[in-house]
Order: sequence, then structure tokens, then C-alpha cells
Amino acid sequence: MKSFIKKTKFFDLYSLGDGVYAAISIPGRGAWSNAGIVDLGDEVLVFDSFTTPSAGLELRKQAELLTGKKVKYLINSHYHGDHVFGNQAYSDTIIISTALTKEWCKEKNKLDDVEKEIQETKEYLHQLHKQIELTQDTILKASLTNQHNEMSRVLNDLPHMQIILPNVLFEEKLIIEGSKRKVELQCLGGGHTISDTFMLLPEDNIAFMADLLTENLHVPIYNPESFITMLKKVKEMDIDLFVPGHGNISNEDLLDKVEGYISFIKQESMKALNNKISLQKFISDFKLPPEYMEWTGVNGIKVNLSSVYTFYAGQGRD
Ligand SMILES: [Zn+2]
Repeated sequence: MKSFIKKTKFFDLYSLGDGVYAAISIPGRGAWSNAGIVDLGDEVLVFDSFTTPSAGLELRKQAELLTGKKVKYLINSHYHGDHVFGNQAYSDTIIISTALTKEWCKEKNKLDDVEKEIQETKEYLHQLHKQIELTQDTILKASLTNQHNEMSRVLNDLPHMQIILPNVLFEEKLIIEGSKRKVELQCLGGGHTISDTFMLLPEDNIAFMADLLTENLHVPIYNPESFITMLKKVKEMDIDLFVPGHGNISNEDLLDKVEGYISFIKQESMKALNNKISLQKFISDFKLPPEYMEWTGVNGIKVNLSSVYTFYAGQGRD
């Protein structure tokens, strides 16, 4: 099953089977999310490129070192910077995403004025630093500190960072057939963002889930209904090993945990809406259950209470 191979500056590498590897980020080093390496037979595929060109380049080096083959494909699971800012190291490869993910990468990850971006990032880091000094909450302090460390790495790379967009697009499903194995890209819609792709290795019973699956993290929820539906569909698939977007390699128990978290927020939001409780009061009166006390994320559960409440409030008006 999974076995540790080596530690690099940015991530730990695990073998998940012959020719399948997970790169699990080391917090605060400029990788920020997890990635995957798959030997297709004659060439190599990489799933997600981390948050900095430096980490993305290290991933490519390790992929080519481990397999002795060239990287031909890079998959972008969704538009978030911590999964695509390393794309620069793959500008000569086939970069694949959904059409919507490309559109959002183009819209949201603009880097027109590097000097301005550097100044804004410095200011953001300064604000984070102040928050870290002020907070007494140890979980929040740790989340903020990690955010600060990762963003510092992004700042280091900003002067030479380029936004490289996907160049091959798909909608719902794309099968890449290598000489040794095939991979299946699937997009069942948007749960965490407007469009979320995960990757199945059907012959190996392995799935790379990106941020549709995370460990003990208040992962942003974009569409709770489709998020829950997707996790249920994935659970029906014959998968033994799951590589989450953040956190450790897991089994399907982690699917249940994330689904439970979203369902819980859904229930609480619907209850508040049925009782005509305002969003402000819903958030201020909310008591975090003990099982989520240790979960990290700079905005805690609040941002999800707000987005899920707003989602169902909007549905009610339709
Ligand atoms: Zn994300």
C-alpha cells in the first residue's frame, strides 16, 4: 500500500503502488497542497502543481527522477492558487483542466502588475503578523502562522512568477490512456469551487481528490448540495486509497468525515433559515461542536456558515 520514499525541501514523497506517488506538502514551505505523480508507461502525469514555481519545479524534478521519464501532462484540479501557481514549471507540457477552471484561473489569478502584487502581499503578511500576535486561540494562531509561512514563500517567488493557463480543456470526463495504465479525470460539477476535478486510477483503486477531500480543515464550501452529492458518488466507486488536497493519505473514512461536516453545516443553516434567524445572529450564536474544535483554517467555520446559509437562503427565494 502506501510507503514513505523520501523527504524533499517542500514535500514528502510516498509510493502508493508501482509507478504511483503522492507528494504530501510539508507545512509552510511553499507547496501548501498535495500533488500526485503517475507513470503512464512512456510518459509521466502530474496532478496539481503546488503554490510556488519553486515547489512545482521540485515536483517535476522528482517525477522525472523517480520514473526516468518526461512529464507530458499536468492536471489542474481547480483554480485555487495553492494548486496552480507552480504551473510555470510545466509550460512545455499539456496542461489539462475543465473549461470553467481555466476561465476562473484567468479571471481570479491575474498577475498584471507584479510590483503592486508584491506590495499587497507584504501588507497582507503584515496584517497576518499582527493577528498572530494578538490571538490567544492556539488553533487559530497555528492556522494564521501557516498562512503567513506559505504566503511568505509565494512572496519570494512573486518577482519571477508567471500565470500559465491550461491548454487542453474537458467538460465532465477525460480518459488518458498510457501504455502501462490509464487515468480518468472526472468533474461532477463544483462543490469546493465552481468546478472541481478529481483523478481516478481505476486499475490501482486510487483517487487524487484535490480539495473535494481535506483532513481536519474548514475547507471552503462553494455549493454544499453538489459537494455532498459528489462525495456520495465517489464513495460508491471502488477506491482503497484517497489522496486529499490537504492532509494525509487516507481511506474512505475521510469521505464520511468531510460529508458529515458539510451536512452538519447544511442542517444548521436550514434550521436557522426555517426559524427566520438572521445570518449575523446565526454566526454569532453558533457553538462549534467538540469534533471540529481542532480543525484548522484562517477563517474557521464562520466562512462556511455564511456561504452555506446564503446558498440555501438563495434557493428559498427561487
Ligand atoms: Zn482549493
